Amino acid sequence: MKNVKARAIVALNEPFQSITIDRREVGPKDVLIEIKYAGICHSDIHHARGEWQDETFPLVPGHEIVGIVAEVGSDVTKFKVGDRAGVGCMVNSCGECEKCLAGEEQYCLNGNVLTYADIDKYGNGERTQGGYSTHIVVTEGFVVSIPEGIELAEAAPLLCAGITTYSPLRHWGAGPGKNVAIVGLGGLGHMGVKLAHAMGAEVTVLSQTLSKKEDGLRLGADHYYATSDPKTFKDLAKSFDLIINTVSAQLNLDAYLSLLKVDGTMVNVGAPGDPLSLNVFSLIMFRRAFAGSTIGGIRETQEMLDFCAEHHFGADIELINADYIDKAYERVVASDVRYRFVIDSATI
Ligand code: NAP
Ligand code: ZN
Repeated sequence: MKNVKARAIVALNEPFQSITIDRREVGPKDVLIEIKYAGICHSDIHHARGEWQDETFPLVPGHEIVGIVAEVGSDVTKFKVGDRAGVGCMVNSCGECEKCLAGEEQYCLNGNVLTYADIDKYGNGERTQGGYSTHIVVTEGFVVSIPEGIELAEAAPLLCAGITTYSPLRHWGAGPGKNVAIVGLGGLGHMGVKLAHAMGAEVTVLSQTLSKKEDGLRLGADHYYATSDPKTFKDLAKSFDLIINTVSAQLNLDAYLSLLKVDGTMVNVGAPGDPLSLNVFSLIMFRRAFAGSTIGGIRETQEMLDFCAEHHFGADIELINADYIDKAYERVVASDVRYRFVIDSATI
């Protein structure tokens, strides 16, 4: 066992505290990563505030993890000490089901193991704890390489915000000739804009206001509209092949579905705790689809990182010290994030 420093919620509605947690000994297939940076995802906030489920405390969030390999097990082949490595939302899966064999571990039919707030049922059976910490031990199959050409701190958000938008953009064929809208310009949304633009799609941001318009256009959007203006929904009726909804809160789905062309698809990646509802006529009249998507497999995550390196971008980040996490959470909830908070792990 290795005792390491971490920042944790120790009870609901309590601020973050410094604690120490145990990381397992490095097994034959394990990689020990000295964490350098960890992104703050809105999912961390849903967990920390008990918006999704009853949580077990202490809870160490963090599933956008990058760092340097500090030790490898005897059977590890992909990594050596000193390599730049990343870990996203999953740390294990059954490895045997149809989905795992297809490289889509995010849809493991027997249930994958999340990086935190989960039990490693395929490993030592212990509760997983996330990346707001100085070190993590992960089986090499769930560790990806961070290519040279992306700043390490700017790579952290790619491990969740990047792959969560890349995967549906690829799956639903974003590219030249496709009109893609990104709803919400936060952590996921700003990556969605960069990625869809790099894939060659025509990109529109649908944000609550025009306050981030300049940023949106700089990030690669071709058009930018405020959803607080009812005219937006008239002007853009039946415009999009694909809408990616990254909003973390309730939304009038019917209004957004009316923006899809015939056969268009709206994909919800935003994950508010309360159910969303829609009128089926929003779908049946124009053969539209409403879909969901979660992160991406390990192979696709590596592909996304390589794609970002090739196109010379990471995330736009605000680097913070660990004692700023509570304040950062407040700012994310207030949509005051430009565009991902990343914790400097040296301050933990
Ligand atoms: P974020 O940085 O807070 O971005 C969400 C954006 O949604 C905000 O910046 C804001 O954009 C917009 N928004 C917020 N409240 C709104 C409201 N009441 N009405 C309309 N728009 C609103 O969050 P994130 O980290 O990108 O995560 C977004 C959601 O995706 C969360 O629910 C998270 O749990 C989920 N998520 C899902 C997956 C998955 O695998 N499917 C992975 C990661 C995260 P504007 O200011 O531009 O309007
Ligand atoms: Zn996330």
